Amino acid sequence: MKAQDIIIGSGPSGLATAHARVAQGRDVLVLDAGVEMEADARDLRNRMGSVEPAGWPGSDRDAIGAVRRSEKSDSIRPFGSDFLFRLPPGLENFADNGGVHGLKPSFARGGLSNGWGASVLPYHRQDFEGWPIGLADLAPHYQAIAPLVGMAAARDGLADFYTGVTIGEDRPLPQSAQARELLARMEAKRGRLSDMGVHFGASRQAIAPGCRACAMCLYGCPYGLIFNAGDAVEKMAAAGTLRYQGGVIVQGFAEHGGGVTLATSTGTFEAERLFIAAGVLPTTRLVLSALGLVGHEVVIQDSQHFYLPMLHRWSTPDPAQEPRHTLAQAFWAIDAPEVERHVVHAQLYTYNDTYAPDMAQRFGPFAGVAKPLIEALSRRLIVAQPFLHSSVSPAIGARLVGERLIYHRIENPRTGEAIARVRRRIAKAAWAAGLVPLTPLLRPGTLGSSFHCGGSLPMRESPIKGECDVLGRPKGLKRTHIVDASVFPTIPAPTITFSVMANAHRIASEA
Ligand SMILES: Cc1cc2nc3c(=O)[nH]c(=O)nc-3n(C[C@H](O)[C@H](O)[C@H](O)COP(=O)(O)OP(=O)(O)OC[C@H]3O[C@@H](n4cnc5c(N)ncnc54)[C@H](O)[C@@H]3O)c2cc1C
Ligand code: SF4
Repeated sequence: MKAQDIIIGSGPSGLATAHARVAQGRDVLVLDAGVEMEADARDLRNRMGSVEPAGWPGSDRDAIGAVRRSEKSDSIRPFGSDFLFRLPPGLENFADNGGVHGLKPSFARGGLSNGWGASVLPYHRQDFEGWPIGLADLAPHYQAIAPLVGMAAARDGLADFYTGVTIGEDRPLPQSAQARELLARMEAKRGRLSDMGVHFGASRQAIAPGCRACAMCLYGCPYGLIFNAGDAVEKMAAAGTLRYQGGVIVQGFAEHGGGVTLATSTGTFEAERLFIAAGVLPTTRLVLSALGLVGHEVVIQDSQHFYLPMLHRWSTPDPAQEPRHTLAQAFWAIDAPEVERHVVHAQLYTYNDTYAPDMAQRFGPFAGVAKPLIEALSRRLIVAQPFLHSSVSPAIGARLVGERLIYHRIENPRTGEAIARVRRRIAKAAWAAGLVPLTPLLRPGTLGSSFHCGGSLPMRESPIKGECDVLGRPKGLKRTHIVDASVFPTIPAPTITFSVMANAHRIASEA
């Protein structure tokens, strides 16, 4: 089969690429492994999505989050299904990471956006240090992507700090009372926090208008309001603006004089131009193989994150009973060179019903007797999840051996000190805002588990073997563009996907 443009993948980077190419009048074909949720899970979603939350039977409420709420699992299972990380036939061995990291590929229709946290921020001006492009290059593409993901945002203090996107419509989400109180207290201490280099505001989330404040976000939005790239690709296919083929595993590609030939699980495809949006691990594997770079080591950079639980000193009515969303409620940016040379991004989460089971695990055999205490504490808990720049984070070394990526951990001697400095600054700001930081309970995230990873085939002004030019073309290739985070020269701390999409949109617009 032939197309002018073939895009591998229907995740956020594939969707952004498709938008830009369709806008140029190109004939676009999306090839996708396209794993979907099973009928039971789909029925549950459709059933819940067809009525208002007050009409949900208790059995559906229980079913949607049963696995995640259980005391044995913190896994991400939208609508109770494991399709997000399910490996299609032929790729069963893909995910063997040897215990080195927590990054996983997704072969789902829509990729990782089926289970993501939907937090969206552009990078800060300083985040482009070491990149061959700057904020001015991405700004028009952030602006193009914002309506596509349904960015809900308030024009607050963060808008002056992250200037990459202009917030046109002030559309705040249904915040929890805990978040409202926290932000009000921070507002009252704005001067002091500013002296600490702490900027703050409501979270920016890729949630379309119409949120029912039903608190189910962590289990999958029954109303399909949390941005899902697969749904958006499906809509474009239904409208006839592109062609979509799911159930296709791309196994290899090669450029020739007039185009690119793809070998797939369902036969051969031809394109004038190829865009690879398969996510960091599948893209790295595919490209190393196509370039014959067997044994060549690449470095997948990570953004180290950690969890810092805190208790609020003020009282609120029972947070479990109020209407709210349950994704990140507030963002903090720390811009203080004495703490970190690069901007630190932190997401703050208020009450959700996974807190108590998670705490129960930590109480082990005493969980039963401690239940009343756990319930009471979980209702006062606010958890900060700070992210660090890749320059102070460990990384993943990867090389292709046969058909498999083999990994090893690359330590960063600066990580421990960086976490300690950030922890101290966050604790100081938190105390000023009426929180008690539980610093002994700080928990670092495992390598890759933030899914803010990339940089295995970085864009450079003058690329060498294993690197790309500013249009994502690996050295030696002319018609093949990598459009996912594999081409990011560094991994800055703020949320990654908005920048992945903007960069994909830039490459696809200029290619
Ligand atoms: C739990 C979780 C929470 C997250 N929260 C956030 C957040 O709040 N904010 C944020 O910015 N980011 C977040 N992320 C990260 C975000 O989901 C990813 O950055 C984003 O999905 C990457 O998009 P992508 O299109 O590059 O790749 P993916 O989403 O991985 O999509 C890859 C696509 O390629 C297809 N594919 C792969 N290999 C092949 C092949 N060989 N043949 C055919 N098709 C193939 C897959 O089927 C899929 O459609 C989170 C991720 C997770 C898992
Ligand atoms: S609260 Fe979350 S799950 Fe409920 S409608 Fe809003 S976005 Fe969807």
